[in-house]
Formats: sequence, structure tokens, C-alpha cells
Amino acid sequence: MRDFVLERPRSLSEALDALGRHGKNAIIKSGGTDVIVWLHKSIKEPDYIIDLTAIEQLKGITINEDNVEIRALVTLSEIIEDSSMKRYFPALVQACRAHSDPLIRNRATVIGNVCAAVPSGDMIAPLVCYDAKVEITGSNGTRKVPVSEFIIGPKKTSLAVDEVVTGIRIAIPVVETSGCYLKAIRREALDIAQAAVCCTLFKGDNREFRIAFCAVSPRPLRATEAEKLLNSSGNIDDRVIKRAAELAAGAVDPITDVRASREYRIDMIAELTSRAISCCLEGPVEEGVRR
Ligand SMILES: Cc1cc2nc3c(=O)[nH]c(=O)nc-3n(C[C@H](O)[C@H](O)[C@H](O)COP(=O)(O)OP(=O)(O)OC[C@H]3O[C@@H](n4cnc5c(N)ncnc54)[C@H](O)[C@@H]3O)c2cc1C
Repeated sequence: MRDFVLERPRSLSEALDALGRHGKNAIIKSGGTDVIVWLHKSIKEPDYIIDLTAIEQLKGITINEDNVEIRALVTLSEIIEDSSMKRYFPALVQACRAHSDPLIRNRATVIGNVCAAVPSGDMIAPLVCYDAKVEITGSNGTRKVPVSEFIIGPKKTSLAVDEVVTGIRIAIPVVETSGCYLKAIRREALDIAQAAVCCTLFKGDNREFRIAFCAVSPRPLRATEAEKLLNSSGNIDDRVIKRAAELAAGAVDPITDVRASREYRIDMIAELTSRAISCCLEGPVEEGVRR
């Protein structure tokens, strides 16, 4: 591992100042569960690490009147323990439970997962289903971008070198919801998804299903045709669920890699989509669900 200088700014403005001074020679660190691995493996060789963990204003979850703000340093464990998150965003809580193990979840942040922009990132599909907006601050001010647009390719985001993600904002659902995150993995511990499906159901007068995937496309992807079928079907029986699962499987474009073949991933998407729809119809699920 190459030598680097560690900087620990105490405020957002100090962090922005450090990024302004070091530009491309610096990398931001939050939980460090990706960054430290990359340094060890020499995948990244920055001269400076800007460690955000001492910045108080980037900590905590705030429940506002109509939205929830998850700040940059909120860990997966904090999401799991928060009762409002369980109530409003059950699929996000399940995705946090499906991620790694308790030690990693105590360090890893939701926003680090989004900024890493790895197609197998567990946080991405639920945040896409909940239409979360990434809040960004840089030398040119602040901006908000939907997660689905923030990630522009594998390990690529629209973040500029002088910008920091300060949080994620999600509108609180105005109707009853249920949600389900199902992840196919090779073993029952510490494994990255072979494929995963997130399904959310907003149960108002205009019932709305949203379905998004993990590990089967280079960018965040919604199953729009499957969603249209479900949202226009009066009665959702086994036949409709089967057809929606087929449409979902037809929408993905996975690769073959060490974890799974393209064909296996497509089959798993059909199976997990079918199960996730049924799970949403049955009501809220509080426990993390794994295959
Ligand atoms: C043993 C192990 C198991 C794992 N299992 C899983 C798993 O099951 N599922 C999964 O999805 N991932 C898994 N991971 C990967 C990793 O834990 C996650 O991606 C994690 O959520 C990253 O969060 P972090 O806070 O540690 O990010 P960091 O490592 O601190 O940063 C990750 C990336 O985000 C950038 N970044 C972080 N914060 C900000 C910010 N506020 N503004 C701008 N850029 C920022 C960093 O520069 C870096 O590019 C695993 C990792 C390990 C080591």
C-alpha cells in the first residue's frame, strides 16, 4: 500500500477546502469498508484521504414533515435500528440486513454504498424504488440528483472531484406501503449479490408497484414493463405475477462473472421478482429476507 496523508476535517467547509486543494489526488472516506480494501489492493493510490467521520453535521437521520433525510455518515446499522425507517421504508431496512455482517454494517454507510456505484450495491435498488434524491455540495453550491441518475455506470457517478454527498432525501409515503428485498447469494454470510430484486407497493387508491434490480445491469434499472402490467391489473393472480416476472427477466442485461452466469442471473430475477411481488401483496415484512 502506498503512503498517503490522512486529513480529518471537522466541518463540511473544511472538507470542501481540502478537496479544492487536492483535487484528483484525494479520495473521500466515510466508513472505509470499500476505500480501505481498495488501498490494500492498490486499486486506488491517492496522495490524500479526506476522512469525513469527524463532521458532526453529516451525522444522523432527520424525520421532517414530508421527507426523511439520511445524512452522509449514517450507517446501515443505524437504518436497521430506526423505527421510522422500518415503518416507511421496509425494503431499505431489509437491504441493510442483507448486506455483509454486523461488524461491517456498523461502519458501512448508505451513501458510501451509493457513491461506490458498484452494480451489486445493496442500497441502490431500494433507494431507486423510493425515488431517493442524492444531496450534493461543492464549490459551485448544492444540487439534488435522483439516485437513478447519480450513478452513470459501473463505479461511476456524476460527482465532481470538488463535491461531497451530504445526504439522501426520501419523501415519506402518503399511503400505506409494503416492501421486499430479496438477494440471491452463494452462501449465508458475507456475500455480494449474484442478483437481487427490490419491490415496493404503495397501496393508495392508485395502487403502485415499483421494481428495481441489483447486480444485473451496469446502471440502476427499473422493471417498467412489469410495473405497468401490475399497476393496470385489477386482480393480481398467479398468472399476472408470472407474466410480470417474465417481463422483469426480459429487462435485465447481466454479465457472467465469478459469482454467477448471465443465464443463472436472468433465471433468478424471474424467481425473485415473483416472490417479491407476492411478499408485497401479503403486507409489510420486517425481517431481512434472503433466498
Ligand atoms: C467484508 C465486506 C463485505 C461487504 N459486503 C457487502 C454487501 O453484502 N453488499 C454491498 O453492497 N457491499 C458490500 N461491501 C462493500 C461496502 O461495505 C459497501 O459498499 C459500503 O456500503 C460502503 O460504505 P462506506 O461508508 O464504507 O464507504 P467508503 O469505503 O468510505 O467509500 C466508498 C466510496 O464512496 C465514496 N464516498 C463515501 N462517502 C462519500 C460522500 N459523503 N461523498 C462523496 N463520496 C463518498 C468514497 O470516496 C468511495 O469511492 C462489503 C465490504 C466488505 C469489506
